[in-house]
Amino acid sequence: MQPRDLSDHVAYEAGRGIEEVARELGRDPSEFVKLASNENPHGPSPAATVAIREHASSMSSYPKAAHTDLVAAIADRWNVEDEQVWLANGGDGAIDYLHRATLEPDDAVLVPTPGFAYYGMSSRFHHGEVDEYSIDRTDEFEQTADTVLEAYDGERVIWLTSPHNPSGSTMALTEIEALAAETDEETLVVVDEAYGEFAETESAVTLIQGQDGFDARDDVAVLRTFSKVYGLAGVRLGYAVVPEEWASAYTRVNTPFAAGELACRAGLAAMGDTEHVERTVETARTSREAMREGIDAHVWPSEGNFVLVDVDDAAAVAGELQERGVIVRDCTSFGLPGCIRITCGTDEETERAIEATNAVLADLEVDAEAEVPDR
Ligand SMILES: *Cc1c(COP(=O)(O)O)cnc(C)c1O
Repeated sequence: MQPRDLSDHVAYEAGRGIEEVARELGRDPSEFVKLASNENPHGPSPAATVAIREHASSMSSYPKAAHTDLVAAIADRWNVEDEQVWLANGGDGAIDYLHRATLEPDDAVLVPTPGFAYYGMSSRFHHGEVDEYSIDRTDEFEQTADTVLEAYDGERVIWLTSPHNPSGSTMALTEIEALAAETDEETLVVVDEAYGEFAETESAVTLIQGQDGFDARDDVAVLRTFSKVYGLAGVRLGYAVVPEEWASAYTRVNTPFAAGELACRAGLAAMGDTEHVERTVETARTSREAMREGIDAHVWPSEGNFVLVDVDDAAAVAGELQERGVIVRDCTSFGLPGCIRITCGTDEETERAIEATNAVLADLEVDAEAEVPDR
């Protein structure tokens, strides 16, 4: 017996971990810094750590009150009804819920390329098709309604990423609104704001609520995660904010307990820790500016907690950086074989990343020159 035909499915390639790399190279983990997965360099909110310790003994119960309390806090934060908050096991879990709620077999989703791999993977799990629109490096990864409409062909769901991973570009709310207005009534536009806290731009929740001069829309949803700014990637917690009209679908598509007890407790505590959030955002802004100024290669402007760097040969540069103890993301798997993505670290980590990158780029250039045959 075999599983179903999974030949269209590909494994998710996560950023590499320190333990994994150190073991492979036979080195001490303490020699490495990991700037490959856009994690929080300050770690989790200390309040979240306390909450997990305090609630450790309630692990034996199914999460009911914790789930209710966290949903209420998120709804309050966005000024929406509790039912409009679809809590999930990570942002990835929320992607699955949105597909469960929308896709009939052979419906298609429209996803960005380069872009986050899980949108397409999740669609395929739900027997959906995957079409792509291009976010073009020759246009500075600019995102407008037109860049998406050029490829749009009646897909059921359109995935936008703002700030975009891996480029860091954003899409203006007026463009998102124009896109939602131009597309079919049955097309849901999802704005993935995994990095929303790091950007100056306003959340697309504004379009769902109909505030700030926008009419309320029933065809826009927003995705958020606790993995990035709150530093809770390890607990797996995220959510979607959906239009009022969609609210009741959640109870029909979610897993019986969408997020764990300790995850919910940690999330609730982290939301209240504004000091940790502000410090994290400040660090990311300082770091990305330092990398833009300091790295001797083109670094695109970014509104996320990472920057994309044009290095020509991403595999060579990422490999050499790893040898020197700095783990970054080779963007070949995103469809950008010339680029690496470096996560914003602490001041010291950022400094180390800039110096190591410049040293590697200089060395590779010397090597390249040496290889030119002098006939
Ligand atoms: C990190 C990330 C997510 C969500 O990650 P989770 O850890 O599953 O919450 C979603 N979209 C993008 C673009 C991301 O980079």
